[in-house]
Amino acid sequence: MSMKLYDIAIVGGGAAGLMAATRCASKGLKVIVLEKNRECGKKILITGKGRCNITNISPWREFQTHIHPDKSFIKNAFYHFSNEDVVSFLEGIGLPCKTERGNRIFPLSDRSHDVRDTIVSYLKNSGIEIACGCEVESVSKSEDNFSIKMAMGQDRGVTIRARRVILATGGLSYPTTGSTGDGYAISQSFGHTIINTFPSLTALKPVEPDSRLEGLLLKNIRMDLWINGSVVQSEFGEMQFTSGGIEGALGFRVSRKGVKGLINGQKVEVSIDLKPAVEEGELTKRVEELASGMKSPNVIKLLPKLMPSQMIDSFVESSSPGLSVNNLAKRLKDWRFKISGYVGYERAVVTAGGVSLDEVSRKTLESKLVPGLFFAGELLDIDGDTGGYNLQIAFSTGALAADSAIKSLAI
Ligand SMILES: Cc1cc2nc3c(=O)[nH]c(=O)nc-3n(C[C@H](O)[C@H](O)[C@H](O)COP(=O)(O)OP(=O)(O)OC[C@H]3O[C@@H](n4cnc5c(N)ncnc54)[C@H](O)[C@@H]3O)c2cc1C
Repeated sequence: MSMKLYDIAIVGGGAAGLMAATRCASKGLKVIVLEKNRECGKKILITGKGRCNITNISPWREFQTHIHPDKSFIKNAFYHFSNEDVVSFLEGIGLPCKTERGNRIFPLSDRSHDVRDTIVSYLKNSGIEIACGCEVESVSKSEDNFSIKMAMGQDRGVTIRARRVILATGGLSYPTTGSTGDGYAISQSFGHTIINTFPSLTALKPVEPDSRLEGLLLKNIRMDLWINGSVVQSEFGEMQFTSGGIEGALGFRVSRKGVKGLINGQKVEVSIDLKPAVEEGELTKRVEELASGMKSPNVIKLLPKLMPSQMIDSFVESSSPGLSVNNLAKRLKDWRFKISGYVGYERAVVTAGGVSLDEVSRKTLESKLVPGLFFAGELLDIDGDTGGYNLQIAFSTGALAADSAIKSLAI
């Protein structure tokens, strides 16, 4: 493979890199995907708890509300290769899909392996070269071509050349899947700025974690995120207490602002409203009614009627001193947790921050600093909520970067 010249080299065989490669199929180009793991798409395998929430089929006006920090940057990529395009493409190459609650798309088989394997088989049948076990160490440019230096097993310094390079090395979350931030250093070597990264869609750790709550799933609750004493985000749905702390859909949703607040040294709190459908006044009446039916009413006797037994001891201890029949309704609507930390990249679903969007063309995803260099996926300073948004970002940006690279070769 030494010093071969490729039309396009795609660095990273994750969701973004693989989708970029599919766009190069049947174009008569010499294209290679360089993946450091022994197999491509390791992260795809663990998505959606092994079921892979491929995308979210909501229209752009709803979709964009789940993108951070700059939804407008991704709009062009989204329309270039939309959520509907992703589904038709995958179905067209042999992966039937289904829609579930919240417009989330999954493979009909419920197997993330099928998503990865279908794309990889398509690429192999289309003559795209996939080189696994190739860890790219550096990329440089001289005159018109890029030199890509990599380690292949014991062999270091193996070099190939390419006319265009697409960097799709992912972020830092779940490093065991190969996402170890290598693309940041490569981008920096070309003068690109990396916006500070931090884990997002991760568990927030309460100051006093209570192992008795672990595993408890709370449905139909409201969660408020407080920063320095003000509510900055309010969400409705379900959450789960885990060994990591507060997570589940709601915990993840507030984690982006929560983690950022902690990094900035702000006071971060989470409050849980266990009875969001009932106003405090109404709830007070209900509590009083329940109490009036008891001989000697007290909070301990009332709580089994109001919450799962697993959380009673913890709720009582964290709400004391002063928890009484009189203030029970208030406490049920504001069970407060001071947050002191968060679970890091080892278990965060996504990395926020990354290659600065200011230095990348939103129309083509080409570097504004280095012609011929393109970016795709989580490596960029763009991330989404849970619900299929992150894979769609990877697929849309992968497709746009590849199509732009192909177009630029024809000029
Ligand atoms: C547990 C979990 C569950 C998730 N579930 C969902 C979900 O259901 N739906 C959803 O939309 N999103 C989900 N996500 C997020 C989504 O998986 C990612 O945002 C998306 O996969 C990012 O794709 P990517 O191609 O940009 O990066 P990655 O998937 O990280 O791929 C980057 C690839 O580049 C390779 N690489 C890195 N450095 C080098 C190098 N130096 N040389 C060669 N190769 C290199 C890596 O090995 C890796 O294969 C989940 C994430 C996690 C961790």
